[in-house]
Amino acid sequence: MSIRKRLTILMLFIGLVPTLAVGIVAYITISTSLTHKTVDQLVSTASEQQQRINSLLQKRQEQALELSNTFDLQSNLGTYLASAGRQGKPQLQSIVQNTINGNTDVQNISLADLSGKIIVSTNPQDEGLTLGTQDTAMPSGQETTTTVREDQRDGIDKLYITTKVSVNKQESGLLSVVFRIDDIVAAVQDYTGLGSTGETVVAAHNANNHTLSLFPLRFNTDAALKANLDSLQLFTDSDTGYKDLTDYRGTEVFVAAKSIGFANWVIATKIDKAEALAQTDQLRNTMIIIVAASSLIIALIALYFTQFFTKPILLITEAAQQIGRGDLSPQLRLQRRDEIGTLASNINAMGASLKGFVASIEAQRNRLEIILNSTVESILAIDKHGTIILANKAATELTQTDVGDIVGKNVNDIFRWSQSAEPFTIDYLQSGAKIYTDLQYINPAGITHYVKLIVAEIKVQQGDSAAQTIITIHDETKSRELEAMKVDFVSMAAHELRTPLAAIRGYLELITFKAGRTLNSEATSYIRQALKSSTELGGLINNLLDVTRIERRTLALTFEKIDLAAELQQSVEEAAFTAKDKEIKLIYDGIRVPSFVAADEIALHEVINNLIGNAIKYTDPGGTVTVRLQRENDAYQVAVVDTGIGIPVAAQPNLFTKFYRVHGGLNSGSTGTGLGLFIAKSIIERHGGSITVQSQEGSGSTFTFIMPAFNATRFASLQSEAQPKIIATRRHHGWITKNITR
Ligand code: ADP
Repeated sequence: MSIRKRLTILMLFIGLVPTLAVGIVAYITISTSLTHKTVDQLVSTASEQQQRINSLLQKRQEQALELSNTFDLQSNLGTYLASAGRQGKPQLQSIVQNTINGNTDVQNISLADLSGKIIVSTNPQDEGLTLGTQDTAMPSGQETTTTVREDQRDGIDKLYITTKVSVNKQESGLLSVVFRIDDIVAAVQDYTGLGSTGETVVAAHNANNHTLSLFPLRFNTDAALKANLDSLQLFTDSDTGYKDLTDYRGTEVFVAAKSIGFANWVIATKIDKAEALAQTDQLRNTMIIIVAASSLIIALIALYFTQFFTKPILLITEAAQQIGRGDLSPQLRLQRRDEIGTLASNINAMGASLKGFVASIEAQRNRLEIILNSTVESILAIDKHGTIILANKAATELTQTDVGDIVGKNVNDIFRWSQSAEPFTIDYLQSGAKIYTDLQYINPAGITHYVKLIVAEIKVQQGDSAAQTIITIHDETKSRELEAMKVDFVSMAAHELRTPLAAIRGYLELITFKAGRTLNSEATSYIRQALKSSTELGGLINNLLDVTRIERRTLALTFEKIDLAAELQQSVEEAAFTAKDKEIKLIYDGIRVPSFVAADEIALHEVINNLIGNAIKYTDPGGTVTVRLQRENDAYQVAVVDTGIGIPVAAQPNLFTKFYRVHGGLNSGSTGTGLGLFIAKSIIERHGGSITVQSQEGSGSTFTFIMPAFNATRFASLQSEAQPKIIATRRHHGWITKNITR
């Protein structure tokens, strides 16, 4: 969900929920209190009405009782009854007449005997008639009956109160007093404070136990009277507050009922619910309007603030995405001085500095590209899946393929290497750097390239498609061709020199043989010197030829079982004369037991001779040269130790390379070719051994070579090893010939 949506929801929630909650709580509180107020008013009106009507009834009842208790009435009734109606009647008549005359409320007074037969009445026609059953049927234990009914004569509702009259404490007659009830009706119908739908009901049970109103009702009175007021449940739980009911009109009402004890009546006030709750409804509507209006305002404010906060964020996000896509020129224009404004200007600044940064990287990249493309070496970068992600110009020239056709391809699909005509696989994903030499690559044009490969892992890995390995292909085809040409030339020159040299030697020997005796000593010395020089020259030529054979890999060796101890002793003996000549002590200090190795005897002999020759050559008179031999596990170690001039440390690593001479500068006067140690190393390695040097300038040198001891299995495999196809036409005596004088 976007930040704008979230913020909008949050703002609306914060704004609307409290508003709605306050609205609802206020509505409930106020409406409850309003309802209570209305109902309380209803109940209190009911109580007031109850009191008023009670007091009006009570007054009339007291009047009736007062009359029934007057002495005159009782004594005259006693007389009347005792005389069986002959005496007392006129007195009784005047008593009731006098009573009515003094009381306008009273409509009629009748005195009857216990059977209800009227003795006297203010209404003379009634005399001799009988009182109504409602009047005579007095409920047990009660002294009076109170009823309201229509007067048959004038059709007006009246209050009938009948009391018992006692003569000498004996019930002797009934006094019926008929009252006007205008004031009671007025009191009942006094609706002040009850609102437009309020009314008072005074009800009693009829003979069928239905509730009927004693007085006309305010609404729909006839119907109400004809029907009954049972639905108002006036007699159930009266005096207990109020009820919520549907009245005789089918209207929902609140009713508060109170009993009027002595008459077994009930007085109730009621009000239409609609009116009672009108204020509440109005309040509800007002509240809804207020809540709706405030919600709307809050929503608008929330939307405004959401917009206010999120718009710049969205703009900033968009700008950041733009930068992410590589468009570094977004310019956010937010006229704000707050943190968001600062953020926007920081993003602008970041974009600008990134732009500069990218430009400088671009420039650097261009420079690198130029460098890469101008190197003669082919350079490739591949990722960890072997996919080529960069190839320089030399690579495209080597493969004769466009950059677009190399980049994105797998390196194994583009380059198939071979070594000595056999397919060669390279692990491009190895760690560290590795060099592969002597590889061939045949390009699409069918041209074979001899190459050297450097496969180097890039340590910093930035991801799946980041460059993982750099492959540098060094094309050695041209230099190999040159080298081959050089070797060919040297070989050819050496071969060509051998014939004239042989002729020179032949003639010199012929002169010595034929005219040796006739030559004077000076001429003899010259010829000897010439012979010596030609021998040296022959040695040099042989050395050159050997070097060319080594380089062409055409040097043939014949392995035999040779006693190394015997070979060494023989070489020491051979050199003894030269050493003695130079006043150098040459000694053999090795084991003398047969020490067999598999070797080409001539080659081995020449290596030993060269080492001994060098030792003598580079040791001043008075020094010592010691030849040692010792067994070391499965090998023999030969050391030629001298006390000579030594070799500087810096020169030692190059000693075994071609033409390298330490003490052989042009002005040094030292003679030599710098080929002896190169040939010696090649021969020793062909025998499966190794050669090293230890030397200290001024103190002497030790050349040590190790050869594996004779082993039948190894010997067999050496013999069966394919000899170079071109067998060297050597077997001259003296492989490495040197002039031992420096
Ligand atoms: P050359 O002796 O013909 O110059 P080598 O290949 O036999 O060629 O020797 C190479 C160089 O090594 C020599 O020129 C010499 O400077 C140095 N060297 C070889 N052996 C010794 C030694 N025993 N003491 C000092 N220097 C030596």
